[in-house]
Amino acid sequence: MSSSALRGRERLRPERPAWAAASEPLVRRPLPLVTREAVARPVTGATNARLVQRNMNWNADKWPPAMAELRERGAAIRRETLRDLEGYLRRLTERVEEHGGRVHRATTPDDARRIVGEIARDGDVRLAIKSKSMVSEEIELGPYLEEHGVEVVETDLGEYIVQLADERPGHIIAPAIHKSRADIHDLFERLGGERLPDAPEQLAAFARRRLRDDFHGADMGISGVNFACADTGTLVTVTNEGNARMVTSQPRIHVAVMTLEKVIPRFTDLGVLVPLLSHAATRQRVSVYQTMVTGPRRPGEADGPEELHLIILDNGRSRIPGTQYEEVLACIRCGACQVACPVFRTVGGGHAYNAVYGGPIGAVLTPLIGDQEEGADLPFLSSLCGACYDACPVKIPLPDMLVDLRADYERRHRGPARVGWAAWSRLWGSPLGYRASLLGGRLAGLLPGGLVGRTASLARSWSRGRDVPPLRAAGAFRRWFRSHRGEPG
Ligand code: SF4
Repeated sequence: MSSSALRGRERLRPERPAWAAASEPLVRRPLPLVTREAVARPVTGATNARLVQRNMNWNADKWPPAMAELRERGAAIRRETLRDLEGYLRRLTERVEEHGGRVHRATTPDDARRIVGEIARDGDVRLAIKSKSMVSEEIELGPYLEEHGVEVVETDLGEYIVQLADERPGHIIAPAIHKSRADIHDLFERLGGERLPDAPEQLAAFARRRLRDDFHGADMGISGVNFACADTGTLVTVTNEGNARMVTSQPRIHVAVMTLEKVIPRFTDLGVLVPLLSHAATRQRVSVYQTMVTGPRRPGEADGPEELHLIILDNGRSRIPGTQYEEVLACIRCGACQVACPVFRTVGGGHAYNAVYGGPIGAVLTPLIGDQEEGADLPFLSSLCGACYDACPVKIPLPDMLVDLRADYERRHRGPARVGWAAWSRLWGSPLGYRASLLGGRLAGLLPGGLVGRTASLARSWSRGRDVPPLRAAGAFRRWFRSHRGEPG
């Protein structure tokens, strides 16, 4: 059976830049170049406004006392997990297999893709439906399965929209945050080849109608996992649309994909972690659906898959425990740090990071996983203001990690700019050197505007992709400071 939700896809013309495309492998480019293009995109201003509004709403009710207490407990549970990650994974594997599921450990994204591909081939799968899963983005599962003859349909509304637009998600939990209602209306009209009303309810109904047949007709359901309980083998998916419930119960094969840190010690920990995730992600007391899967369908049960496969991806994560970055594995993927980050908001969301995971969590996680070269410069895409730490429901010290990762990067990439920064640091380390540099700046200001920044080779390597403002006459600030000294700020 071919997908009803994707019928008419050939009428769509992707309008995104190549580096935001979901169907093309990520190609690394120097970060300033990508971010410069990202900021110049027409969608960036509107996306920024949406993110700013969301941040203001969230700041109004950040950690009320009851949630602050849950935050402490959630942070403690996640750290308890990290102290014995392999032990909990072993228990999880035993429980899932006791219930009739199969567990596959995948070292690399290649391994994970291959395993899912083999399950699809053995099960003669032609159509697969998916619920939202960042791990499946990490292993580029959709394009791989399509290459191997399996049609893949995203069933989360935001993911469905970005799939049609051939884009990667712009935010962990709000993948289409960079799309306006008009964008979505236009996309759906072109897909359906018919006039549609533009009310959000009608647009959602259009998507629902198109997805329904695929829910019934798919051979395989692919889900992510928010939490995997080591003591019961229960795989938990938290959504607001209920699509994960269909994905995990209707097709005859269910493949759940998780990274190894998604394990939690006990089923009862969900009482802390689910409300915490819901509050941090969407300011809900609890998300609308918590889908809990404990094994495939048993005799006498009305629905559920015949086969359940759990893929546990490592992709370099097992290197992290025991290092100063260990706590990054406590992340519960709420996306709050992304909304809180002024840089993420300014560059118009996650695409500008040119990586699967954007924002502060992406800037820390990306250089630590995989080959560790991918996205090594991402930690520089931060103002280090600390807003991400304040927003994080499990208190991950992201700003400290960003600083440490920058130092790691500098140790590994000793470029010419390093010499310039060392000289600058020495110069500004003494009042005499500081004044001399101001005099130099004043002289440079007499040269034609921007000439120094454009011609000096050290400055050139730094200023590629950055705006270098013309040097102003020095001394103005010091004069202002002297005249205002002692006045209240
Ligand atoms: S680092 Fe914290 S705030 Fe960011 S996604 Fe993870 S849990 Fe949420």
